[in-house]
Amino acid sequence: MSNIAQLGRYSWPEAKYSLKNAKVVLLPLGGLQQHGPHLPLETDNILVGYYGNRVGERVHPYCAVAPVIPYNIGLGFENYTGSINLSEETYSLMLRDMIKGFKKDGIEKFVIISVHNNNRTRELTDKVAQELGTYIEIMDVWEMFDEDDILESGKGHAGEFETSQMLYISPESVRRDRMDVEDGALGVKGKPILANEKKGEAIVEYLVEKMVSKVEELLLRG
Ligand SMILES: [Zn+2]
Repeated sequence: MSNIAQLGRYSWPEAKYSLKNAKVVLLPLGGLQQHGPHLPLETDNILVGYYGNRVGERVHPYCAVAPVIPYNIGLGFENYTGSINLSEETYSLMLRDMIKGFKKDGIEKFVIISVHNNNRTRELTDKVAQELGTYIEIMDVWEMFDEDDILESGKGHAGEFETSQMLYISPESVRRDRMDVEDGALGVKGKPILANEKKGEAIVEYLVEKMVSKVEELLLRG
């Protein structure tokens, strides 16, 4: 995978050229959150970074990919060590400042890549978009993935769905000897033990195609 669309790798003159061509900036919204005993805290950062690169590569040069935002608003995991929650206020302020910065460089459309659907994030994001008179779409992996027959135990947090994606994208990050966790135990929903690389490949490739189409649609809308 190349990093041709990653804005953070450019020098400023390169970024100037890139943002002149780009019509959309992708904002990968990760987070530092517990993901059971078998996945790292930075699971969401790994996932959104990967999707950002894959989509950016395909839609180059019409979109640029911002660096991963490594923290997110609360997902209710306060009691798990290492789960860091931004307040809603901090999230809104951060998003506002980022959008303002990119608007100054001529970008009017943004797509947040999210791996945790959350109605509150959507409300706060819409509010920022309205205030700044810009367009911010959220592409959420959990909402976009509707091929549920691939999974045997649903899409629970840190379960079969996320673990399969991680086994495909970042196998070295998965503690395979700790995947046999009961549904509802240790911060896990569903059954990570049912995850495998093959399911991960099917999920990830399906989602990449869907995301690329969505961004292309946005570009065609002008
Ligand atoms: Zn996650």
